[in-house]
Amino acid sequence: MALMTPEQFEQSLKARKPRVFMNGKLVENILENRNTRTVVEANKASYEWALDPRYKDIMSCHSPLIDDVVNRYTHVSASTDDLMKKAEAGTFTAETLGTCIYRCVGYDTFHALAGTTWEMDKDLGTAYHPRFLEYLKMVQREDLSVAGALTEPRGKRSQKTLDWPDPFLSLKVVDKNDDGIFVRGAKINISGAYASHELVVLPQSSHVQGEEDYAVAFATPTDAPGITYVCQYSAYSAERDGADDLEELGNPRFGQRETSLVIFDKVFVPWNRVFHCGEVKYSAKFVTRFAKTHRMTCGGTCKVGFMNQIIGACSLIQEYKGLEKVSHINDQLTEMVVLRETGRACGMAAAIKGKEDPPGSGVYLPDEVMGNVAKLNICNSFWRVMALAGDIGGGLVVTMPSLKELKNPEVKDYVNEFYSFGSDEPTENIMKVHKLLQNWTAGQHGVGTWHGAGPVMAQKIALQRVVKFDREKDIVKHTLKLKEKVHS
Ligand SMILES: Cc1cc2nc3c(=O)[nH]c(=O)nc-3n(C[C@H](O)[C@H](O)[C@H](O)COP(=O)(O)OP(=O)(O)OC[C@H]3O[C@@H](n4cnc5c(N)ncnc54)[C@H](O)[C@@H]3O)c2cc1C
Repeated sequence: MALMTPEQFEQSLKARKPRVFMNGKLVENILENRNTRTVVEANKASYEWALDPRYKDIMSCHSPLIDDVVNRYTHVSASTDDLMKKAEAGTFTAETLGTCIYRCVGYDTFHALAGTTWEMDKDLGTAYHPRFLEYLKMVQREDLSVAGALTEPRGKRSQKTLDWPDPFLSLKVVDKNDDGIFVRGAKINISGAYASHELVVLPQSSHVQGEEDYAVAFATPTDAPGITYVCQYSAYSAERDGADDLEELGNPRFGQRETSLVIFDKVFVPWNRVFHCGEVKYSAKFVTRFAKTHRMTCGGTCKVGFMNQIIGACSLIQEYKGLEKVSHINDQLTEMVVLRETGRACGMAAAIKGKEDPPGSGVYLPDEVMGNVAKLNICNSFWRVMALAGDIGGGLVVTMPSLKELKNPEVKDYVNEFYSFGSDEPTENIMKVHKLLQNWTAGQHGVGTWHGAGPVMAQKIALQRVVKFDREKDIVKHTLKLKEKVHS
């Protein structure tokens, strides 16, 4: 069996030496730094689940490529059943971690690579697809964790790539030789890459003639020479750094959500890891296919899991406060459930209506309309759920003192008395649940949900490209028996 144990995963990371900076300092060891450790823990959990009899049906599957059991996050969907399992895995992972599924972007890049390399080989006679399959086999056999990046940061959106004063605002090939290519550029927001083994890079947009150097897709080890990570640092990072006891935090083991800037400074990529190089017509296909699968993940699966955490916290608080019979609170909880289930339904519909794309490739992608609707819908409904949670949670969600006060001999009796809501629930529990809600409603998740997999505009553009109104017009014409146009 090709699956690593969680301990083997942790051991395997010890052999990697990514160059990581956080808060102005070098992170000597990502396994020990409290903030980077949360990503290690989240990825490690995915190794636990793949072996756990309770979850292995969701988190692992049989790969025909290597004829063995693999982690689901390394499998390319080959049926709508696979897509449904992918959706289930997304929700399960998110509700259990309470933070980003750091492996999902890599998983989704595999879907874009598998179909598009197949199509390029068919159309152009290139040999990218077998090369990609060899790479994927290696990932599956070695059970590697893979992050994914559509490269940014991009220059002025009003200008064309070639007009940007700095040509590296999108990652590009700077040199080539018989052995491979050298790339320079960056990606601003990448989830959890430094705690993965591999990083798959796709182009971030369509390209036109003249932009061949930007039309590139490849895989690299996360610690390849020339790669540097500059981590996000927020109030939540500082809080974790300074905590006496991690149990005081809103998500003790897995944290808020961690991203970094990843810089590629003349990184060498051998040809056997290059999957697209100069074929400008195909860059958009990588992006579109990635978006198809990633929008289902972000819109219809992980946010459903996140909402489960928020709804659970709200209904506990309702209980602590003795508000079980209050109709507007019950209405609010019902509204949250409706928003959650609408998100889930869109994700499931995207999976069930999924198709082989491109036809003949054997790769299944979610339905484009439903995937985009899932993401567009969740962009708005997640803010709404946050607002409802803020109402039910009350001011304490943002005004609560540290849990340390429960151990402070000067004030612990007061804190126990005045934060107990007169219930028989331990005050520590009440404070912890509020802290969890603080994590969700007053942290990074609102903006993160909006922009991860692209902001609303990106989904609207995709929908306007795909949805044609001919059928709807025909329905009206048929209903009213409209006459044919008069031709002059
Ligand atoms: C928490 C988090 C994790 C992420 N993880 C990953 C990851 O692991 N891998 C990955 O590849 N990506 C990741 N992303 C990146 C994500 O895909 C981008 O943030 C997203 O594509 C939005 O791009 P942006 O942040 O540059 O926002 P922008 O594109 O700058 O959007 C800002 C505003 O400008 C508007 N705008 C932008 N361009 C145009 C234009 N041409 N015309 C008109 N309006 C425009 C947008 O609609 C929006 O209103 C992550 C993002 C977040 C927030």
